[in-house]
Amino acid sequence: MVIIMKPGATREEIDRVIRRIESVDLKAQPSIGEQRTVIGVIGDKTRLGDMPIESMTGVERTMPISAPYKLASRQFRDEQTIIEVNGTKIGGKQIIVMAGPCAVETTEQIVTIAKAIAQSGATFIRGGAFKPRTGPYSFQGYGEPALKMLMEAKRETGLGIITEVMTPYEVELVSAYTDIFQLGTRNMQNFYLLREVGKSGKPVLLKRGMSSTIEEWLLAAEYILAEGNPNVIMCERGIRTFETHTRNTLDLNAVPIIKELSHLPIFADPSHGTGIRSLVAPMSKASIAAGADGLLLEVHHDPDNSMTGDGVQSILPDQLDQLMGELRAIAGAIGREI
Ligand code: PEP
Ligand code: MN
Repeated sequence: MVIIMKPGATREEIDRVIRRIESVDLKAQPSIGEQRTVIGVIGDKTRLGDMPIESMTGVERTMPISAPYKLASRQFRDEQTIIEVNGTKIGGKQIIVMAGPCAVETTEQIVTIAKAIAQSGATFIRGGAFKPRTGPYSFQGYGEPALKMLMEAKRETGLGIITEVMTPYEVELVSAYTDIFQLGTRNMQNFYLLREVGKSGKPVLLKRGMSSTIEEWLLAAEYILAEGNPNVIMCERGIRTFETHTRNTLDLNAVPIIKELSHLPIFADPSHGTGIRSLVAPMSKASIAAGADGLLLEVHHDPDNSMTGDGVQSILPDQLDQLMGELRAIAGAIGREI
């Protein structure tokens, strides 16, 4: 249920409603918009009994939310969520590009790539320190030393950092270095991890599980939001289908669907979505044309020697540079900027 406050309701009236909800051990999640404030009520709402919420001063009406995800839905908040990170607004008019290698390998590697992508107009460096590998004998990432290398890249370029966290126990450690947590496809339903990044309050890019429905994905986002962290970015990264030519099938339907159902920013990851370098640029352009708020791209200056198998889907810095120019034209055509 959401409680819709009247336009111009005072802070005191809002607080009084929140206190009443909390008095019966329910959680109240206010969302303060430009026009009006809405308050999400989380928990078993039978606890409200016949408490007269609708007649409280400042309250306009209450409304049930029919979707199983509540805080993530447009019914809860119609205004687009904009997340400000490291001076960059995510989810607004500007299209955001986060780029970098699959894994952080050396300081030289990450700094070289960071400098190149910054020049092309990307605003975040990506790179895994903790890698979720399908097999236990594959390179698992360098852990904290790799986080330090990302920090060095940030110092040299001013780019923000996005990197993956895989377990609830590492949230604090990764948080000390990163600006945005990446939650990978294999962890989309790691509910303890979702709750822990929710508690941290730091922005989270939540990749779609490779076999997850849109609804399951939004419910995963709901776990983070329900902990009081409104800073969630959805990221379509391809799903498993019968097709084997590509690594995954980038489900571009997800972009406008998430826009319709939710106020959260939506990104696309055509690198993992296709698994094929030559397909990354065309599918990046398609993603932006479909309305994506940003892209997560694998870029490597020496992909043949990358330490994960993802060199085959990494584009070269020059290719990113050319792509950014093409994206600029598409962004202009749909009233956006890059
Ligand atoms: C990655 O971004 O390198 C990664 C492991 O992504 P995903 O979780 O989408 O496979
Ligand atoms: Mn990868």
